[in-house]
Amino acid sequence: MSYYDKPEQPVRDSRLVIGDSYTGTACGALDCAKSGCMLQQGRRFWQANSCQMALSLMMAATIENAVIVMHSPIGCGSSLFGLTPGVTKGNVKRGKAPKQPIWLSTNLTEIDVISGGEKKLRETILYADREFRPEIILVIATCAPSIIGDDVNDVVKSVGGQTGAIVTAIHCPGFKSRVVASAYDAFYHSLISRVPLEPIDYRDYNPPERADPDYATKIRALAAQKQNTVNIFNATSIGLADEQELTRLLNAIGLNVRIFAEYCSVDELRMMSFAGLNVSLCNVHDDYILKYLQEKFDIPYIICGMPIGFASTKAWLLEIAEFYGLADRARNLIASEETQVSEAIAPFLPKLAGKRVLICGGVVRTSVEAVFLKEIGLDVIAVRAYHYDDGADPVISDLADSLDDTPFAVSNQPFEMVNQLKKLQPDITISHAGTHGFLAKAGFVSVQLWDTDKPFFGYSGIFQLVRRLVFAQRNDSYTKRLAANVAQPYRDNWFERDAYSYITD
Ligand code: SF4
Repeated sequence: MSYYDKPEQPVRDSRLVIGDSYTGTACGALDCAKSGCMLQQGRRFWQANSCQMALSLMMAATIENAVIVMHSPIGCGSSLFGLTPGVTKGNVKRGKAPKQPIWLSTNLTEIDVISGGEKKLRETILYADREFRPEIILVIATCAPSIIGDDVNDVVKSVGGQTGAIVTAIHCPGFKSRVVASAYDAFYHSLISRVPLEPIDYRDYNPPERADPDYATKIRALAAQKQNTVNIFNATSIGLADEQELTRLLNAIGLNVRIFAEYCSVDELRMMSFAGLNVSLCNVHDDYILKYLQEKFDIPYIICGMPIGFASTKAWLLEIAEFYGLADRARNLIASEETQVSEAIAPFLPKLAGKRVLICGGVVRTSVEAVFLKEIGLDVIAVRAYHYDDGADPVISDLADSLDDTPFAVSNQPFEMVNQLKKLQPDITISHAGTHGFLAKAGFVSVQLWDTDKPFFGYSGIFQLVRRLVFAQRNDSYTKRLAANVAQPYRDNWFERDAYSYITD
């Protein structure tokens, strides 16, 4: 039985070779993974770790006309307050109604943990359907119901016949995976399980009638329309500006583009199988759904790093173009775009030449971006990836080729990052959203690794990233003053130790 047919997705810990603790070089990480040692590595001390539920929730909160039912104690839903402004803004930017996510909680108590929460879940789903009339209800199965053994799938199935909405469950208990990226699989598995992904005749399109004298022509036109449609898969770290830039480039070589699955409605999700090719922007986000669409609908897919910087954007575009026999057209476009953006960034590059940069965040983005930064003359002094998985081997291999001696760590631990920064003293730190507060308190100017308000992908992404790097190092007085007036939560003797001294074999 394929894992797509199972009630719950496997966690990445069992589906892929993964790691969350490593220090060495990129080349060493690849060797370590091949020999099996990546799986063995851990830490004697963890400062913090992420919960996959929070990441699944980020995706779920963007689905249009949905209600989220948190099957959890009340606290698990707290991150939805933080997600609301971003989701509302994302809706508005895409021309959708400025709706905030609607969410309810089953508010599991100690009594529920003893006696079970299925009754509460059933009642909450029915209430959500009655009160809000959504198109879809997404039940978030968290730690507590997963530990006590609530049969969430049974409730979802049994209640489904009584609701106007499609009801599906995202199984994402925080404790179940060491790798937070398992959350993407959990979200997509919930769609695969219960949401139709095929267009419906006469609702989503008008099929040609057999009696029509142009029947054969219309059938061919429909097939061509499907074949020339490329699906691109987004995630919370990919903003509208990135989607527009990639759409612009693919449109320029004659392809249609659809974007899934964030900010889609149930009607839009049905069009997912009406495509000739599925294209990844990051294997960590979307390999699960891409492989499913190939298995179920026979749609081929391309996973080719992330289109950040000259080399990666070119490789990404060419691979898609070659699939369609459009490589010459793509080469012309690439030459023209590269010329324009090279001229545009030329005045900025002398200000960045030789600047020492440390980069930290998701494994694919950091690896691809580090290679680009070297390409434009920066000195990449360290790369920190939040996790390792073997799907990212091609980009880690490119990193190993480009920056063979540069320290490469797999770590999402703030205490290790601050230690490494204090020792290396980079001119610029590029880091994941959510880290800039503690970086500023430690005295380091930082640039966000991704920002949904600005492009990072394609050629406009190159220009915007270069501009941001120049801007960030113009004035460091804020971080210097902050660091001088804020106490660090670490003892001084922590900084005498190696940043990764807690990592164990
Ligand atoms: S780790 Fe579990 S209990 Fe904590 S927020 Fe995540 S799902 Fe809720």
